[in-house]
Amino acid sequence: MRERRVLVVEDERTIAESVAARLRAEGFAVDIAGDGPSAVERFRSGQPDLVVLDVMLPGFDGLEVCRQIQADRPVPVLMLTARDDETDLLVGLAVGADDYLTKPFSMRELAARVHVLLRRVERASATAAPALRLGDIEINQAERRVRRGGADVHLTPTEFDLLVHLAGRPRAVLPRERLLADVWGWADGSGTRTVDSHVKALRRKLGADLIRTVHGVGYALEVPA
Ligand code: CA
Repeated sequence: MRERRVLVVEDERTIAESVAARLRAEGFAVDIAGDGPSAVERFRSGQPDLVVLDVMLPGFDGLEVCRQIQADRPVPVLMLTARDDETDLLVGLAVGADDYLTKPFSMRELAARVHVLLRRVERASATAAPALRLGDIEINQAERRVRRGGADVHLTPTEFDLLVHLAGRPRAVLPRERLLADVWGWADGSGTRTVDSHVKALRRKLGADLIRTVHGVGYALEVPA
């Protein structure tokens, strides 16, 4: 297997270097960028498998980096936030971050999250099934692509996994906690807002009536006519 590459985007040098050292010790090839524009440039030249992305950056911020790289190619993004900043967090998830860590975090926690995210994406592509069809929505699991009415719809890796998960059990009501455990691999039931913001993104991209909210419980996928 090809060595997996991680791009670490962080302007605080000591943090960037400890993150890079830990990930290299875990067997990853690591590249570092210290500001928004160079992060986008290195993403394009280095083709990383995952991005660790700080929100507060010179040039333009991590949220803008996330928007630009996700528009380029879907990639798992682990976002770093300086404090428990809810706005950053919600915007981050909306622009395509898959998971987040609040500073200060331990290198052990960071490494664990990186492995979980990569396993999720790799498992999803290894078990790729034939194309699924929901009304005019076509889900190609092998290529991880979605089309609606014949036009490509750009989804982040987590949005894609959530859609496939819901599509696998149409009309079934899936509790948020269950989705968190099955799609994100988070077993403790915290972070249900993460599910809400990804559902919101799927509705925005694929149609408001695709996913029904079951108040107080979770979500169900409606099959379009
Ligand atoms: Ca920073």
